[in-house]
Amino acid sequence: MSVANLIAPLKANFARGATRSYSWRKQQLETLRQLLRENEAAIFQALSDDLGKCETEAFATELGLLYAELRHTKRHLKRWMRGKRLWPGLHNMPATARLTPQPLGVVLIIAPWNYPLMLALGPLISALAAGNCAVIKPSEMTPNVSTLISRLVTQYFSPDVVTVVEGAVPETTALLEQPFDHIFFTGSEGVGKIVMRAASAHLTPVTLELGGKSPCILTPSADMATAARRIAWGKYLNAGQTCVAPDYILALPGTAEAFKAGFAAEVRKAFGDDPAQSSDYPRIVGQRHFDRLVSMIDADHVSFGGQSDRDDLYIAPTLLENLPESCLALTEEIFGPILPIIEVPSLDAAISYINARAKPLALYAFTTDKSEQDQIAALTSSGSAVFNEVVMQFGTTSLPFGGVGASGMGVSHGKASFDTFSHMKPEMRKPNWGEVKLRYAPYKPAQLKLLRRFFGG
Ligand code: NAD
Repeated sequence: MSVANLIAPLKANFARGATRSYSWRKQQLETLRQLLRENEAAIFQALSDDLGKCETEAFATELGLLYAELRHTKRHLKRWMRGKRLWPGLHNMPATARLTPQPLGVVLIIAPWNYPLMLALGPLISALAAGNCAVIKPSEMTPNVSTLISRLVTQYFSPDVVTVVEGAVPETTALLEQPFDHIFFTGSEGVGKIVMRAASAHLTPVTLELGGKSPCILTPSADMATAARRIAWGKYLNAGQTCVAPDYILALPGTAEAFKAGFAAEVRKAFGDDPAQSSDYPRIVGQRHFDRLVSMIDADHVSFGGQSDRDDLYIAPTLLENLPESCLALTEEIFGPILPIIEVPSLDAAISYINARAKPLALYAFTTDKSEQDQIAALTSSGSAVFNEVVMQFGTTSLPFGGVGASGMGVSHGKASFDTFSHMKPEMRKPNWGEVKLRYAPYKPAQLKLLRRFFGG
């Protein structure tokens, strides 16, 4: 079936107006929850087959986040749908004004492979809650999850509400030729540009959830034990294949040695002396990414870890030090279990280092000094800024999530995501009485005088 024919029933369904009611939206959310609840075993299996994720991690970072987003959305949907009353301005009186969220139509969701379930179905929650129909394009890099999503969506949803197109570049390219009402893309900066270029042909608005290098500053005021524990956890979740994983450490004087020792201890505590034997330590998604990552590990600069096994797609938790500025680990997004540590002479130098590069998706800093926190927050630009914690901002439905500059545009999660998939339409309603004739010709000098007083200037 051609892509246009696949989308036609969704467009027709949306045009009939059925998707607008609260009860329709609530029903779709319930269907999605049922899809997840009744297929957890198959979901865990697919995530294990594609990424070696254990059940606990798969629940915490994929299923659990979807359940939380579903619950939050269901709880607040009625209120979000109401929109809000606005002041129409004195010059419009008598009148009422509202900002009313209206569904966009048929939206396209393009997902990456690193959290292949959550990043395909998370945006779907908001798309449906906002009253849209959706096409999902899962990542071809995680084929078991992609096929499972396709099978389950076909089984649970009507094909004129949600449909899945599996495939890689040719299939996505064909989809991008269609006039969608919104494209929600999660993936790399390079493909983000392709998506935005294609969307411009139809003036389709885009949300781009991209990646990049998220820095993590350590200052002498940091609680180093906490920093080591939380950074090790956030870095080795999904073996570092997380868009908001700390990409590199900027260590102020007096912090590097304590961090390295604490970090190595935390990694051993979590995954043992040989993480390859730990069932809790995931694998790299495929050989292309494995080769890319291994080429970043220069044995002369390994402070910790460095081992790898191509047949098993295993790369050990690895800390790199004293790297030359031009090396791949410092110039490319790492997106794997490798963590470079860069020593900088001062907080100003750390801030300058960050500001000389593309705006990151997340910026982390471990410091207990409020003035340092304020300085970092004020003088840097990033999708989010998080102090004494990593990654946890992602799983927070009340915090909008998104990038800035090269790390993306638009936001997701909770109400922010509902708004992303809605047109926030200003509506003004006036009666036919109470006319102020000031605006009508023929104009008299007194009108201009009055207009001046009204507008100022
Ligand atoms: P990717 O850009 O390679 O692929 C994403 C999607 O685009 C896939 O579905 C893929 O099939 C499709 N695609 C790939 N090449 C294409 C092309 N030439 N034309 C059209 N479509 C194409 O990204 P990835 O490797 O799946 O994911 C890793 C990247 O995603 C990292 O940069 C990471 O930081 C980022 N990411 C961001 C977030 C976020 O929420 N901001 C979350 C996860 C991952």
